[in-house]
Amino acid sequence: KVRVRFAPSPTGPLHIGGVRTALFNYLFAKKHGGDFLLRIEDTDQNRYVEGAEDYIVEALNWMNIPFDEGPGKEADCGPYRQSERKDLYKQYADELINSGNGYYAFDTSEELDAHRKDHEAKGKTFIYNWHNRLKLKNSLALSEAEVQELLNKGTDYVIRFKSPEAETLHLKDMIRGDIQIDTNVLDDKVLFKSDGMPTYHLANIVDDHLMKISHVIRGEEWLPSMALHVLLYRAFGWDAPQFAHLPLIMKPEGKGKLSKRDGDKMGFPVFPLEWKTADGDVFSGYREDGYLPEAVLNMLAFLGWNPGTEQEIFSLTELVEAFEIERVHKAGAKFDPEKTKWFQHQYLQQMDNDVLAAQFKGLLKEKEVSTVLNLTLIVSMLKERATFVEDLWEQGSFFFVTPENYNEKASAKAFKPETPELLNSVLDIVKSTEDFSAANLSEAIKGWITSKDIGFGKVMMPLRLALVGDMKGPDVFEIASLLGKEETIKRIENALK
Ligand code: GLU
Repeated sequence: KVRVRFAPSPTGPLHIGGVRTALFNYLFAKKHGGDFLLRIEDTDQNRYVEGAEDYIVEALNWMNIPFDEGPGKEADCGPYRQSERKDLYKQYADELINSGNGYYAFDTSEELDAHRKDHEAKGKTFIYNWHNRLKLKNSLALSEAEVQELLNKGTDYVIRFKSPEAETLHLKDMIRGDIQIDTNVLDDKVLFKSDGMPTYHLANIVDDHLMKISHVIRGEEWLPSMALHVLLYRAFGWDAPQFAHLPLIMKPEGKGKLSKRDGDKMGFPVFPLEWKTADGDVFSGYREDGYLPEAVLNMLAFLGWNPGTEQEIFSLTELVEAFEIERVHKAGAKFDPEKTKWFQHQYLQQMDNDVLAAQFKGLLKEKEVSTVLNLTLIVSMLKERATFVEDLWEQGSFFFVTPENYNEKASAKAFKPETPELLNSVLDIVKSTEDFSAANLSEAIKGWITSKDIGFGKVMMPLRLALVGDMKGPDVFEIASLLGKEETIKRIENALK
């Protein structure tokens, strides 16, 4: 059975790269009728950030990609927080020592620093590996008695993985194909520390095995760890899952990885939800900026994947259907904030007018505007020019607030010496029109313009300014009809003052 997991570390807010990883895992699981797990990798207590786990769960919920198993959704393979699985890992570290795949190392951080400095002085890099492990302070170099004595004394230790020497590993990635690695380039990674905590590598492999994970889908930054992970599975005698490493997400200009600060520097969010740091910094989020989760999801799906057709708008169900992990690219995916807005615009157009009107009503309430006008109709007239609900106000505040002044440039063009006379005639027509429908008004006013041979602009421009205050907005007669006779008269009279 396909079982995949999203395994974030709660070290801060989940950025969109993390959400993309979650989404691709979700799509892959659902495509194959499998399970999508959330596992919180919180073994590094120094990097733990309060609130990060809640943020992760909330972000997945907002994006509508719920997990089948995870914290709060316990199932057979729980608990799903590594800190709650703490007691489980030591036996596996011990197992590696017993099988000769792991060893104790007692080097203090000062000693390791000194080695690093020594190497640097000679223009080299210090790597704890096959080359020098016998010259260092560990159970491979010391006698059994010495090791026992150090352990008995309670000396701080770590357990390191003993990487095999001079072997060519043949790895397989579902996206990148075959990869060869010479084990001599690997270092002997720390797997376990004497504070009783495993490192990421050990906990991750043990949990993926115990949670019966079939496919590991994660960011490219973990590709360098794949060799160690495959070696760990081998050392335990377990079948390894299949791996897929998703491409990096690059800055909009293409060079370099998209960073946390990029968004705020360039005016777009890189987080799904707003995040406030303990120091009071605020990072903006897509949700708070008025994006629809469907739009963000659609944008994320295209970060490193495409369906191979022209279709760009995909519902989540359609994505599940179309998604193929083999179609994920190797090359970095350029993040495009404008494209995100485009998706948002498309999804806003698809929204039901009643639903949109209800949201718009909420916005009006915030602005302390009360109205008896038909919001569903207004929204249907305005939404074509709107990307966010907020834009509906920008586009259509004139429906609710009588203009007090007129766009200067436009009035210079529109208000001519003959304008008062023309507007007075329009006023007469308006006053005598009983059926105030847009069609009827349009017929009456346009008929008069044509019969007098006046020129449309001379009438329509000042009329629009009178009603809207600016040269924007939908059809003038639609506007007048919606505002109603009384308000239309009032606005034309205002313009004549
Ligand atoms: N805890 C790791 C992270 O934060 C998980 C990496 C993996 O999926 O193996 O990304």
